[in-house]
Amino acid sequence: MKASKSALVAGGAGFIGSHLVRFLLNKNYRVVVVDNLVTGQMRNIESIRNLVVGQDGANFEFVEANIIDPLPSAIENQEFDEIYNLASPASPVDFGRIPLFILETASVGHRRLLDLAEKCGARILFASSSEVYGDAEVHPQTEGYFGNVNCFGPRSCYDEAKRVGETLNYIYKEQKSLQVRTARIFNTYGPSMRPSDGRIIPNFFMQALQGEALTIYGDGSQTRSFCYVSDLVEGLFALMQSQESRPVNLGNPIERSVLEIANTVRTLTRSDVELKYLPLPENDPKVRRPNITRASESFQWTPKVSLEEGLAQTLTYFKECVASQSFN
Ligand code: NAD
Ligand code: UDP
Repeated sequence: MKASKSALVAGGAGFIGSHLVRFLLNKNYRVVVVDNLVTGQMRNIESIRNLVVGQDGANFEFVEANIIDPLPSAIENQEFDEIYNLASPASPVDFGRIPLFILETASVGHRRLLDLAEKCGARILFASSSEVYGDAEVHPQTEGYFGNVNCFGPRSCYDEAKRVGETLNYIYKEQKSLQVRTARIFNTYGPSMRPSDGRIIPNFFMQALQGEALTIYGDGSQTRSFCYVSDLVEGLFALMQSQESRPVNLGNPIERSVLEIANTVRTLTRSDVELKYLPLPENDPKVRRPNITRASESFQWTPKVSLEEGLAQTLTYFKECVASQSFN
């Protein structure tokens, strides 16, 4: 069957990106992934390839490349209807490891994709983050809040990178009339997260399943709001199809403390592992919860998957990781 539309997904070998690619293929898109595998996994690409086997395979292509570098001709010479830029390491563990790479991915790299979008007349979506609000003093966070970001600290390479990416979207919208979409993604979890990613959900599940103590940073009273990946992907797609060119929060307003998440993981895994308290990282936001009125009014998106249901699906995935000794 001839593809309905074509999409480029930067970061499509990663956690959210690989779910988005499957979603688009199911909608009969032709999908090209560009990813340099810095935090992505080849096994995500292999499982997508297995999905398209049986079709003629022409609807899916993987190009291994770093978007900070000039885009390879395999991408430059193609026409796209939609470009989703999800390329960026997203775990705080990476902020200390590769800060310049993170900053350049959202600035130099995103600009290359904006130029490509302009050349082919594509719409482009930038995966921004709730981190643009920093250690928020407004709660829940609305898109009108300008944030409380430390530009000289351990998280600033990521927070400022996302703010620069948003600024580039604004400039290309204003000066070149480009169709830009800006998704402020809040904490998202689900299958295909890397076991060694370092974020709370992979850490807690992998620790509990291996009988290790759960690592609580600080006193565990800090909160996050957790969105299941299928809901998030539907939100990204709905935003792309909408006429909304302003930044939009995408997340699930279900808010839990770190300690509550630890106890839920212990219950779900039927494990009585201990809690190990470690120092709270500098600038770790104390609270986080999205106000999603804009997404629900603008394109009728609200998340549907409960935390219990989403964590149960995620547990099945991490059990498979442990069984197959996939610890990376
Ligand atoms: P991930 O690390 O699993 O995926 C990111 C992908 O981008 C990886 O496959 C990685 O190899 C690729 N990549 C990174 N830099 C690249 C570059 N310069 N060139 C080519 N490929 C590159 O992370 P994720 O959780 O799937 O996040 C996806 C996007 O969503 C990121 O932009 C992230 O900042 C954003 N986001 C995620 C969350 C979340 O909770 N998961 C929250 C807010 C924002
Ligand atoms: N956290 C924790 N133990 C861990 C990993 C994370 O207590 O093993 C805390 C972290 O300090 C933060 C919250 O869980 O307050 C969410 O962290 P994550 O790295 O998942 O994402 P963030 O929202 O901080 O970017």
